[in-house]
Amino acid sequence: MNFSENENQKMIAQMIRDFGTKEITPLRKEWDDQSHFPKPLFKKLGELGLMGVLIPTEYGGSGFGYFEYVTAIVELSKLDPSIGLSMAAHNSLCTNHIFMFGNEEQKRKYIPKLASCEWLGAWGLTEPNTGSDAGNMKTVAIKDGDHYILNGAKNFITHGASGDVAVVIARTGEVGDSHGMTAFVIERGTPGFEGGRKEDKLGMRASETAEMIFTDCRVHESQVLGEVGDGFIQSMKVLDGGRISIAALSLGIAEGALEASIAYSKERHQFNKPISSFQGISFKLADMATQVEASKLLIYKACDLKNRGEKVTLAGAQAKLYASEVCVSVSNEAVQIFGGYGFTKDYPVEKFYRDSKLCTIGEGTSEIQKLVISREILR
Ligand SMILES: Cc1cc2nc3c(=O)[nH]c(=O)nc-3n(C[C@H](O)[C@H](O)[C@H](O)COP(=O)(O)OP(=O)(O)OC[C@H]3O[C@@H](n4cnc5c(N)ncnc54)[C@H](O)[C@@H]3O)c2cc1C
Repeated sequence: MNFSENENQKMIAQMIRDFGTKEITPLRKEWDDQSHFPKPLFKKLGELGLMGVLIPTEYGGSGFGYFEYVTAIVELSKLDPSIGLSMAAHNSLCTNHIFMFGNEEQKRKYIPKLASCEWLGAWGLTEPNTGSDAGNMKTVAIKDGDHYILNGAKNFITHGASGDVAVVIARTGEVGDSHGMTAFVIERGTPGFEGGRKEDKLGMRASETAEMIFTDCRVHESQVLGEVGDGFIQSMKVLDGGRISIAALSLGIAEGALEASIAYSKERHQFNKPISSFQGISFKLADMATQVEASKLLIYKACDLKNRGEKVTLAGAQAKLYASEVCVSVSNEAVQIFGGYGFTKDYPVEKFYRDSKLCTIGEGTSEIQKLVISREILR
């Protein structure tokens, strides 16, 4: 495997830095302070080809592979992890679910609009009482002629209120039956489908996290994705790829925090020396840099498997587990290196520190990644 960045990765990274310097960096503090979700920004990211990175060009996407996708998330997350999170959720959850399991008619209808971000996507699996244990969901879809009637609520959904189209997993069979759930694609404006309360969060504050509420919501059977009863199994496959996204988000945060720390440690003087000359600081930086590199290698391995169409359950979970724990630890050390200034909002590491914690929780907590990994290695 060649570990150097390919030309597409270099081009994507430069394009995002150029774009972000004008469109993200000047506004990210305001968005964070006000918990403001900048929906129009995502249309611009769509114009840059970043909202359908993995989607083939014949469906309006960019037709890239996982290495390019990871680079896009990393670079956006260095600028603002909230934007990286929303971009990743749109690409790898909603869009990817429809692309992987939708029929040709559904793909032609939804994928080009999602790839351009004319429509922003949401993906609803989690419920108030069932997060890690998503298979025990309570939202039901009851068959009524050629329709299903949905009742229930999803929470913690990225773009749950602002999404234009959502993939929603609901119970169509018995509790405890992994074939008892079905995926539906539902458009905003469908009667009985509403966005609910928006969460006021520790970090990732510019990425909208909200409820989706279903009250006697009638959905035609043509809105079922794939086979009835396959919704949960489909979701686990979607999450296999989704974990690479969260690993990439983690890598972007960790790289951002490390780069800021290296620069600051050379500028900041104490005892008439740059703090980087103290071994207590330079060894921290050495550990951080090594952990960041190891995260990247695990992510690249998962990308390589995914690009070759191989199973990525183990590699994706390992990359997500390791990179997310590293990003929390690296951003913690970054705040330490900045000292009191790191505790203020004048420098970027305070935000990296707050944003990093989502990475050990979203798309499967670290504990759940360990369940997945142990299950795979004990087969
Ligand atoms: C910002 C944000 C965005 C999100 N976006 C989406 C989205 O777009 N779509 C979506 O469907 N969901 C989304 N989620 C939900 C996310 O996937 C869940 O929060 C996550 O899966 C954990 O579920 P939970 O919060 O209910 O925690 P719980 O499942 O209640 O877990 C609580 C604690 O118990 C531990 N635990 C649970 N079960 C076990 C076990 N068997 N063994 C050991 N430990 C265990 C967990 O690891 C955790 O530490 C989002 C969450 C956040 C915070």
